[in-house]
Amino acid sequence: MSKEVFLCAISNISSGSCNEDCGFCTQSIKHHADIQRYRHKEISKIIKEAKAAKTNGAIGFCLVTSGKGLDDKKLDFVCRACEAVKKEVHELNIIACNGLANLNQLKILKSAGVDLYNHNLENSEEFYKTLCSTHSWKQRYQTCLYAKEAGLRLVSGGIFGLGESKNDRVSFIQSIASLDPFITPLNFFHPNPALPIKKEPMDENMALEIIQYAREKLPNTRLMVAGGREITFKTKQSQIFDAGANSIVIGNYLTTIGNEPNKDIKMIKNAGYKVAPYCDA
Ligand code: SF4
Repeated sequence: MSKEVFLCAISNISSGSCNEDCGFCTQSIKHHADIQRYRHKEISKIIKEAKAAKTNGAIGFCLVTSGKGLDDKKLDFVCRACEAVKKEVHELNIIACNGLANLNQLKILKSAGVDLYNHNLENSEEFYKTLCSTHSWKQRYQTCLYAKEAGLRLVSGGIFGLGESKNDRVSFIQSIASLDPFITPLNFFHPNPALPIKKEPMDENMALEIIQYAREKLPNTRLMVAGGREITFKTKQSQIFDAGANSIVIGNYLTTIGNEPNKDIKMIKNAGYKVAPYCDA
C-alpha cells in the first residue's frame, strides 16, 4: 500500500439541532448534551476554516449539518457555502454531509461544486435499530445509492464501540463493501455523560484489529480514522497506518477537540508516511 496519508478537515456548519435520537450523537436535542448549538455558521468563518485546513495539508473539506436530512433552506445554505469555499480556496475537495437526501437534492449539490457526499451506515442493519428509532438503516443505505447515482463520490462508514457484536461488525463492513465507497470513515465512540449509550472508549488493540479487518475487506477504499481517534488509540495513534488506515481527520471534530494539526503531521512523518498532496495521487 502507498505510504501516503490523506487528510480531511471538517466544519460543523449547522450544529446541534437534530430531532433524531441516535444514541451515540451529542447533536441530538433529545440528549441535552452540553455542546455549541447554532443554525448557520457564517460563510466568512467557513472560508477561514477552509483556508486553515488547506494550510494544514487537508485535501478534503467537509461541510457538515446536523439534522435528519436536507430541506430547501439547508440545501441552499450548503450550496452557498460550497460555492464560496471553491471560489476562495482552490484544490480543496468539498464533501457534503447533510443526512438523508433524495436524488434531486444530491444532483443540486453536485451542480454547486460538491465533489463527495458523506453518509454513514453507522453500523449493521440489525444493530442500528437499537441505536436510532426515528429513521431506518435502509433510508441511510438508499441515500448512499442516490449519492453515487448523482455522480458524487461516496464517503460511507460508521462508528464502533457502541456494544455491537462481532457479527454486527462483519455484517456492517459487508454492507459498506457492497456500496464500494471512495472513503470509509471509521469512528470510535467518544463517551459523553448526556448520551444514553454508556460505554468506555474501546480498547486500542481491538480498534486496531477493526482497522485491519476493514482494510482486508475494503482493499481499495481510503480508510479514514475519524472521530474518537485520540481517546481510543491514545499513545498508539501512529499504529493505525500500519494497520491499514490511510486517511485521518485533521483538526477538531464536530463537537469534540482533535489533536493540534502539526502534532498529527509530525506523527505521520515519524511513522514513515507522508501527507498526500492531491486527492488522486
Ligand atoms: S441524524 Fe445525524 S445529527 Fe441527528 S442525531 Fe443522528 S447522527 Fe446525530
